[in-house]
Amino acid sequence: MELVIKNLHAQIDGKEILKGIDLTIKTGEMHAIMGPNGTGKSTLSAVIMGNPKYIVTEGSITLDGEDVLSMTVDERSRKGIFLAMQYPNEITGITNSDFIKAALQARMKEGEHVSLFKFIKQMDQAVQDLKMNPDLPHRYINEGFSGGEKKRNEILQMKMLKPHFAILDEIDSGLDVDALKVVGENINAMRSDSFASLIITHYQRLLDYINTTHVHIMVNGRIVRSGGKELITKIDNEGYDWIKAELGIVDNEASKKQAIILGSCAVNKGAK
Ligand code: ADP
Ligand code: MG
Repeated sequence: MELVIKNLHAQIDGKEILKGIDLTIKTGEMHAIMGPNGTGKSTLSAVIMGNPKYIVTEGSITLDGEDVLSMTVDERSRKGIFLAMQYPNEITGITNSDFIKAALQARMKEGEHVSLFKFIKQMDQAVQDLKMNPDLPHRYINEGFSGGEKKRNEILQMKMLKPHFAILDEIDSGLDVDALKVVGENINAMRSDSFASLIITHYQRLLDYINTTHVHIMVNGRIVRSGGKELITKIDNEGYDWIKAELGIVDNEASKKQAIILGSCAVNKGAK
């Protein structure tokens, strides 16, 4: 299967955030996107999943040639697109377990039913794999969960729903080193011919556990560089200044901030 994004432009509240994204993800591949804050990474994931807050003004997203942009969120989910959000929502009144069961049921043909026995067995296994508290599946979705528990819970849903394209938006934020290892290993264990992931992260640490095949750098609403794992190390060591310099991007916010700091210290050594 193939998810193809072409010349994607999207805006929110009249402000253009995505300025021409081209990206092809095939099952069997593990992609990572890195990029400075405010660059549009979460916007890209929201647009792929179909968040109605964002308006696509140009370009296309197709899944094996089918137009994804005309699908509802629910259809996208049933086609195998999955999003672990940067800030997962709390949903009172629905337990994790009920939610996942309903989602699995929605993917089945008419007349077919989720086998309760198999479901419970798989759920128990997934909870164990993720070293989660055994009572988490029976609690309301994310309610009162710690940041790390919420993130683990997203991975639990992914393991159970077995999507074809999983977008994981900063799944590593708020995780301690042990949880990071558990989450990283569980993501990597999803690798198969019918699975692809798009992992949005700031850090090399998570990607240490994942057999990343493609790395992309996103700056100002565009993918400005694609390559392999060597890009992860470079960003971890050097940040993004080098790529901005190569592209001739002037970082207004940073230069403004620097001017303020320099001004307040009354020591003007000039901009670096
Ligand atoms: P990232 O995930 O790369 O940090 P986001 O996709 O969350 O970036 O945000 C991209 C840009 O969109 C940011 O500059 C952010 O301020 C802007 N943005 C988000 N929501 C709105 C909004 N409602 N109105 C205007 N700008 C917004
Ligand atoms: Mg984000």
